Amino acid sequence: MSTSPTLETVSTSVLIIGAGGAGLRTSIELAQRGVDCLVLGKRAHGDAHTIWAAGGINASLGSLDPEDRWEIHAADTLDEGHFVNDPTAVETLCRRAPDRIRELEEWGMAFDRTDDGKINQRYFGAQSFRRTCFVGDRTGQALMNTLVQKAMDLEVPYRENLYITDLMTESGRVAGAVGFDMDSGRPVAFDAEAVVIAAGGHTSLYRRSSSRPDENTGDAQALAFNAGVPLRDMEFVQFHPTGKVTPEEEAGHLVTEAVRGEGGRLYNTEGERFMERYSPNQMELDARDVVARANEREIREGRGTENDAVLLDISHRDADYIRERLPRMVEEFAAHGVDITKEPMEVAPTAHYAMGGIEVDFETAETRIEGLYAVGECTAGVHGANRLGGNSLIETIVFGEIAGTHIAETLGTRPGASMSEAALRGCVVAQDALGSANGRHTPEELIGRLRRLMWNHAGILRDEDGLLEGLRRLQQLRADADDLLVQASRTSRRYERAQNLQFMCATAETILRGALERTESRGAHARTDHDATDPAWRQNIRCIPTGDGEMEIDVEAAGTPSRRVQRAIDEDHELDYHHLE
Ligand SMILES: Cc1cc2nc3c(=O)[nH]c(=O)nc-3n(C[C@H](O)[C@H](O)[C@H](O)COP(=O)(O)OP(=O)(O)OC[C@H]3O[C@@H](n4cnc5c(N)ncnc54)[C@H](O)[C@@H]3O)c2cc1C
Repeated sequence: MSTSPTLETVSTSVLIIGAGGAGLRTSIELAQRGVDCLVLGKRAHGDAHTIWAAGGINASLGSLDPEDRWEIHAADTLDEGHFVNDPTAVETLCRRAPDRIRELEEWGMAFDRTDDGKINQRYFGAQSFRRTCFVGDRTGQALMNTLVQKAMDLEVPYRENLYITDLMTESGRVAGAVGFDMDSGRPVAFDAEAVVIAAGGHTSLYRRSSSRPDENTGDAQALAFNAGVPLRDMEFVQFHPTGKVTPEEEAGHLVTEAVRGEGGRLYNTEGERFMERYSPNQMELDARDVVARANEREIREGRGTENDAVLLDISHRDADYIRERLPRMVEEFAAHGVDITKEPMEVAPTAHYAMGGIEVDFETAETRIEGLYAVGECTAGVHGANRLGGNSLIETIVFGEIAGTHIAETLGTRPGASMSEAALRGCVVAQDALGSANGRHTPEELIGRLRRLMWNHAGILRDEDGLLEGLRRLQQLRADADDLLVQASRTSRRYERAQNLQFMCATAETILRGALERTESRGAHARTDHDATDPAWRQNIRCIPTGDGEMEIDVEAAGTPSRRVQRAIDEDHELDYHHLE
């Protein structure tokens, strides 16, 4: 079914895999410095997951709170990350963020303004000051529009509907990548001196996630791991407390935090406002991980609805006020017959963000493979055990600029590598074999099983028995994945899902292994059999590939912040769990 008559070969100095905020910002830096590069993505130009980001992007501009400084932004980030973040990454991010925002403004991003014309800023969860810049509730879309326009002005070439399946390396250096064109079905080899992975997160591994369908399937992490790059902090997955439950195709999509910000209350099916038991002071406005765990416990202990949900109710507020402040929610629920001005919404936790990912050197964004870089949600280090809302968009921009700069400065100064013919042929043969697989299990069946497995065994609440059982089930699932039924060409959705499944299994194992190793609870990682945070565990867990998909686990002490940032931590600024205004 899936023969590949001709292999297309493409040569570029720098190949960028992924065209969200991270990939585009990297390409802009390269183009501005006169370096030839090619950006590609699985979808059309401008259609990356970044467009879904709503609330905002952080930088200590001090528009409304002049006492804010980058050191306090760093202190807040480390605090929310429970001090297992990479301090270099955090300090670089926070120090450089204001310049990157001003640059976006120069490039035409229409930030909301204060009355006196400054970039407006609002509170986001767990921040000491109003630091989140925004464009209404469509900040990600505005960011993408700005970056796409800038990249087009600089004539950065973009290749759409291109799926990368393998990275090519030779003697510890990157040589290029291999994939296939999802329109023509042709396999494609990219010969490049440097390759940047900017292919996003992995939250689609979970039964419920805030991700778009068929996106965030852990491709970036698996591509890097398969090429020999360690992954770290994989056990840290952020769950948002309020995802939709129905209809099925929207399950996991976010019910905005603004509902709770506007006074929304959480109830179980016994009519109890249960946050009184979990967080009597902050109630529904406590941190995301606290509310997500409370919701999950209520559901697990049998006080949830038949759809495994709790009830979020805002109907005690005036109907006109709800319509004015939450128009999108009113509309979205009304489309499915729920009038939120009169009745509660069913909500449940949903996987929202991957804190763990590819290990890089944050001064350059390079991995341990020379010439191979990683930027954006696919990397680990900035967020530690939990992400501060608004920090991920700025991460894509700050480290995109850093990667682009380092590549431009080093290109041509190091020995190159060329792709091995045999390895290239092997990749194409594997692509063909996948398309003609004629076994018993469809990719859709196995992806569904994997998502349930991850939800049940590596979800919000974890324990040793569950994680071990998860690993056992994953082993069985992988055996079934060797008996796959595809029978479809590279242009089909089924073929794409069959490829996704390979990446999802590889990435899932690192999450399960990391979560098993960490015998404590910290940030987003909650072990019911080790429910306290153990100071001795202020360490990072690394999954180191040893070849043939195998790994060893290594543990490394977390770094310490600089004196300037430590002083800001010691100043003990009051964190406020404000939500979207
Ligand atoms: C609902 C929602 C709201 C959010 N709100 C905010 C917010 O307010 N503030 C904030 O800071 N963050 C927010 N985030 C998080 C933030 O949007 C992401 O972390 C960030 O946009 C990731 O950008 P990225 O460039 O790393 O990846 P993405 O934007 O996910 O782009 C990944 C790119 O890689 C490509 N790709 C993937 N796999 C392959 C492959 N195998 N071959 C070729 N190409 C591939 C994709 O096609 C795409 O082009 C939110 C997230 C969600 C889900």
